Amino acid sequence: MANIQKLLSGFEEFYKKYFVEQKHIYQELYDKGQSPKTLVIACSDSRVDPSILLGTAPGEIFVIRNVANLVPVFDCDMSHCHGTSAALEYAVRHLKVENIIVLGHSQCGGIKTLVEEHNHNHNFIDTWLEIADTPEMRRLCQKHDNEEACSLCEKEAIRISMNNLMTFPFVAEACREQRLKIYGWYFDLQYGRLDEIK
Ligand SMILES: [Zn+2]
Repeated sequence: MANIQKLLSGFEEFYKKYFVEQKHIYQELYDKGQSPKTLVIACSDSRVDPSILLGTAPGEIFVIRNVANLVPVFDCDMSHCHGTSAALEYAVRHLKVENIIVLGHSQCGGIKTLVEEHNHNHNFIDTWLEIADTPEMRRLCQKHDNEEACSLCEKEAIRISMNNLMTFPFVAEACREQRLKIYGWYFDLQYGRLDEIK
């Protein structure tokens, strides 16, 4: 319960900052609606909150968070529940973001699961992680010990997501017309570094 009380106090602080001291910020966001220029696709991990890591203001970034910051391949079967794809579509087609950042991180529990267990149990997590279960990922797992494999696979997962983004026709078209750029960033929790992944 202590944690919930802390969150409610946190909201009071937020209210004071944005609705009392700088009320123009939300007033403008309310009047004009949101128009973020950047979509960040990050992991759900509690240690890698994009707004905190990137020091953004309300309304500045549109965020998708899921297990291991993965983007699935474009799937035209609309009967499935495509949460990440729906948010991506909204960001690119309706908000017309100009940047997409795939933000990965060290010590990723999702990638660790993928590295350590290749016998999938067909639960939600394993099925989701299949997005990153590529021959290159398997090669990295076989060639390196667990710790190094995790680090290399975390970075490779960012590349997989960046490549998968381009399978969405509206993303590929926006990139082709130079209305959209895709970046891969890797946050190292131990040293506080942010590296670009190509
Ligand atoms: Zn993670």
